Amino acid sequence: MARTLVLGTRNVKKRQEIEEILAGLGLELCDLSAWPDLPAVVEDGDTFEANARKKAVETAVAVKRWVLAEDSGLVVPALSGRPGVLSARYAGKQGDDEANNARLLKELAPLPDSSRAAYYVCTAVLSDPSGEVRAVTEGRCHGVIIREHRGSGGFGYDPLFLIPEYHRTFGELSPLVKHALSHRARALAKLRPALWRIE
Ligand code: IMP
Repeated sequence: MARTLVLGTRNVKKRQEIEEILAGLGLELCDLSAWPDLPAVVEDGDTFEANARKKAVETAVAVKRWVLAEDSGLVVPALSGRPGVLSARYAGKQGDDEANNARLLKELAPLPDSSRAAYYVCTAVLSDPSGEVRAVTEGRCHGVIIREHRGSGGFGYDPLFLIPEYHRTFGELSPLVKHALSHRARALAKLRPALWRIE
């Protein structure tokens, strides 16, 4: 029988990326569409880890399955770490990528190019069906925030996030390249040993 893992996110783009990254592990991946009435987990933690733990544990207890949840975001050291855990709602409204990008560009506009370094962080948490956390991993990906959007791939801040080695943004690079470099791919790669142990 296939081993089942529930992906504890309703963010479609993120879920697609996780599915692509975890392909080949022999896991049957399900999303939360089988539980339409499940209330959204309130992401009120101060850290990516706190939010990822909360999402994984609360979802696992509710659906009584193994759950993989992650919390991720963009950190700009010159902005004291913002947007950070507020990445998804930086401009106010949850998931408004365009407004979030506009706010980021506005805040960075007066700063010199040397202050535009940034990195993505992803903390991934695996919970067993009883709500016990079995693994916590983190991945990071470093880049630079450019001054104009480039490319239409990925999601969120990707059209502004340049990978200097490739001279391309995550909006321009193929999913294959993003999955080789990204914070999410790195966090999930470290989670693989724990995923193999799912009964
Ligand atoms: P979460 O759903 O609370 O983890 O929020 C994640 C937010 O961080 C997203 O809505 C994006 O704004 C940003 N983010 C995280 N990962 C990525 C990525 O791979 N590309 C672009 N933006 C990302």
